[in-house]
Amino acid sequence: MAHVIETASTGRAKCRGCGGKIAAGELRFGERLPNPFAEGETTHWFHLDCAAFKRPEPFLEALGARSEPLDDAARLESEARRGVAHRRLPRIDGAERSPSGRAQCRSCREPIAKDAWRIRLVFYEEDRFVPSGYVHLRCSIAYFETADVLPRLRRFAPDLRDEDLKEIQRELAQSDPA
Ligand SMILES: [Zn+2]
Ligand SMILES: [Zn+2]
Repeated sequence: MAHVIETASTGRAKCRGCGGKIAAGELRFGERLPNPFAEGETTHWFHLDCAAFKRPEPFLEALGARSEPLDDAARLESEARRGVAHRRLPRIDGAERSPSGRAQCRSCREPIAKDAWRIRLVFYEEDRFVPSGYVHLRCSIAYFETADVLPRLRRFAPDLRDEDLKEIQRELAQSDPA
């Protein structure tokens, strides 16, 4: 069966991208996958934004197949296309201040200092998202090939405050490709 974009009939499904609930009546994306435990297929549900950010290829397939109009289709499509063009962007799983100085940046291989901003990464392996380390915020361009990551950081770190976002924006503006 093809991937779908449809209205959630109940509020029971959880989004694979952010772990949050998908409200009844909200549009959701369903990725169809072979069922690993039985015959047939299983469906992984996502908020549309989470799908555009984290599963861009199947999301674009469903978007292309949809005949009814969709609010925000242009923005969602452009974010998904960026995730296809820059292969590491879908790994973004939010941002946080480093609680210790123990983690190493996956980009520059330097340690990430305690309290420094870092971007959380997940790799998509065997149909699931696996926590896969961190990169410095300032290593954005070196790692993701772009510093235009703020919508993704906000989506997967909804608790960031306005002052955090300002600091993050400042640091992203200083991100360089070195
Ligand atoms: Zn979500
Ligand atoms: Zn780094």
